[in-house]
Formats: sequence, C-alpha cells, structure tokens
Amino acid sequence: MKKKLFAIFGDPVSHSRSPLMHNYVFKKLHYPATYIRVHLKDASKFKETFLNLGLSGANITIPHKETAYNACDEIRGFASKVGVVNTIVNENGKLIGYNTDADGFIFAIREFTHLKNILILGAGGTAKALATRFLQDSIKVDVLNRSEKRLEYFETIGCNCFTWDTYKSKKYDLVVNTTSAGLKDEELPAPLNIIESVLNNTSFVADAIYGKLTPFLKLANEKNIISKDGADMLLGQGVLANELFVNFKLKKEDINKYMRESFTL
Ligand code: NDP
Repeated sequence: MKKKLFAIFGDPVSHSRSPLMHNYVFKKLHYPATYIRVHLKDASKFKETFLNLGLSGANITIPHKETAYNACDEIRGFASKVGVVNTIVNENGKLIGYNTDADGFIFAIREFTHLKNILILGAGGTAKALATRFLQDSIKVDVLNRSEKRLEYFETIGCNCFTWDTYKSKKYDLVVNTTSAGLKDEELPAPLNIIESVLNNTSFVADAIYGKLTPFLKLANEKNIISKDGADMLLGQGVLANELFVNFKLKKEDINKYMRESFTL
C-alpha cells in the first residue's frame, strides 16, 4: 500500500499531541502512514493546502473547525448536526467531514454520572459539539461566553445563554471549560468572581485543554472538586478519528491501547 499522509491543522498547533498519537499507532500496527502538523494562519487557504499536500485525511483544531466544515464536499454523522468538523477523510478526491470531539468527550467523562445540568464555558466549535450532544441526552445546557455574537446558535438549539455581564449563579452537576483561555496564557475563562461562583456550585469540572494545569483547573483542585483535563477527550476523539483514517482496517482496541501508550512517551 502507498504510504499515506495525514495532518493536523491549527493556529496555534505546536501544542498538539495528535502527531505523536497517530504516528505511534501507525508504527506499532505497521500501517504505512505519517502524520504531520500544519500551522495554518489563513483559514481561506485550508482546502488548497489540504489538496496540495496530497493528504489522505486530517484533524482540525482551533480556530479552523467551522472553516473545515465549509470546505468539505460531504458531511457525515454528528458533524452535520453541529456544523463543526474535526476530522476529514479524503475519499477519492472528495473531502468527507466528521466530528469525533463530542463522542470523545462523552467517553472522557464516563465516570461523571447523573448529569442533569451542565454549564459550558465558551461558545466555539468544541462548545457547539458538546452542547448539541448533551441536549441529545436530555441534559440541560447553559452556555457562558465572553462575547455575545456566538451565543445565537446555542439559543436556537435550546440552551440558556449568558455573557459575563448577564450571568447569574446557579447549581450545576458539571462545568466544562471549552474556551482557549489558559491554553497559551494564564487567563481564566471568565472574571475571577464568576469563576469562583461557578466552582462553588458544581459537583464536577472538566477542561478541554490538555497537557497543562490551566488556572481554571488549578482553582478547581484547590477547592477539591473532582476534575479532569482534556487528555481523555483527546484520546477518545483520536481513537475515533484514527478508525476513520484507516477505514476501520485496524482494531479499535489496538488503536486505543497504543494511543494511550503514546501519552507516556
Ligand atoms: P474556538 O476558537 O472555536 O472557540 C474558542 C472559545 O474560547 C470562544 O468561545 C472564545 O470566546 C473563547 N475564548 C478565547 N480566549 C478567551 C479568553 N481569553 N477568555 C475567555 N474566553 C476566551 O476553539 P475550539 O472550540 O476549537 O477549542 C477550544 C479549546 O478546546 C482549545 O483550547 C482546544 O485546544 C481545546 N480542545 C481540546 C480537545 C481535546 O481533545 N482535548 C478537542 C477540542 C478542543 P469569543 O467567542 O468571545 O471569542
């Protein structure tokens, strides 16, 4: 089989562990493929770059997931519900878009049970995928975002939406940080007084960011709240994406085993 090339697109992208995870699986399972990073600043160049590189597939991270959706020739599964794509497979020159983030996250928080009320911090692509997925499971979803513009979508699907100015404290079972605050800086996802109030009123906390203790998770830990970072979400979405990349030719248990092992490298 001709060696295949896969990539992750993002800005920033240097933090991404996806190349390590996928390359390790390919190597261990003798699948002829390589996975690279593409630092894409100009979103309008997405499709052109994908095709010029001759990619067989890609993952997409901040801030290009909605661009990726629009660049696809066909959207399959959950991605068509949310308009957000994190995985693309090249099928005979056609870009087929998928979303594996939401199911990856559900896998990640499987030990957080009895979830009835969730607060999502942020209103970007990840927030969209999670909110839509939680609503499917009849969980009530509130969304709190820095700015108002991106909240419109969440209102249309039935979430209660707030900006920092309109937020009122409530009790939640789980609070999820899907903002990029804390990724490359030491910022909280909202002003300290709001975050304090949010953390004082929740049973569980999750952060989509992985590979570092964000100020948000640090504060949650100080308050002894059961929490987790984005590593398991990364694993969950990665396993599902890899299955799509290899067209289900490798066993899911094997992909899961080696991807998890790559976290220890
Ligand atoms: P988007 O760019 O689509 O959305 C970013 C969101 O963060 C927006 O709501 C934005 O608010 C908000 N935001 C950005 N900076 C700040 C700040 N300083 N303070 C408060 N809010 C801020 O990003 P994605 O949804 O694609 O990704 C979000 C995060 O989730 C990233 O850190 C990414 O690495 C992580 N992630 C992790 C995954 C994993 O597998 N663990 C999978 C997917 C994502 P506004 O609308 O006002 O601009």
